[in-house]
Amino acid sequence: MKQYDLIVIGGGAGGLTVAAGAASLGARVALIEKEAQLGGDCLHFGCVPSKALIKIASEVYEAKKIKEWVCLASKKYTIWR
Ligand SMILES: Cc1cc2nc3c(=O)[nH]c(=O)nc-3n(C[C@H](O)[C@H](O)[C@H](O)COP(=O)(O)OP(=O)(O)OC[C@H]3O[C@@H](n4cnc5c(N)ncnc54)[C@H](O)[C@@H]3O)c2cc1C
Repeated sequence: MKQYDLIVIGGGAGGLTVAAGAASLGARVALIEKEAQLGGDCLHFGCVPSKALIKIASEVYEAKKIKEWVCLASKKYTIWR
């Protein structure tokens, strides 16, 4: 039977940090995760996806503002070619 110094339950941000930290100090670590992928809430539902949505929303907002400026400018000035 394998022997471990530390068994971490949950491969989210907390569990991964603890497991990696302990392993880097030489501990034999077992990490138990119930889902198919490691990463937990932060990677799959929280921090990372929410930052991506905020970034996209901000880009869409900027694009709409630029569109308004272009419409305003084209009404105010005659463009000579
Ligand atoms: C919308 C949103 C945005 C966020 N944005 C930020 C941010 O910008 N910055 C920030 O610092 N934090 C943010 N957070 C918080 C961050 O996601 C959490 O603080 C972080 O995920 C907590 O990590 P954790 O490892 O404690 O738990 P979790 O990420 O929940 O990980 C727990 C893990 O344990 C597993 N598990 C559970 N039960 C068992 C079991 N019985 N056996 C085996 N495995 C099990 C789960 O499957 C999961 O993988 C955000 C959260 C949300 C919801």
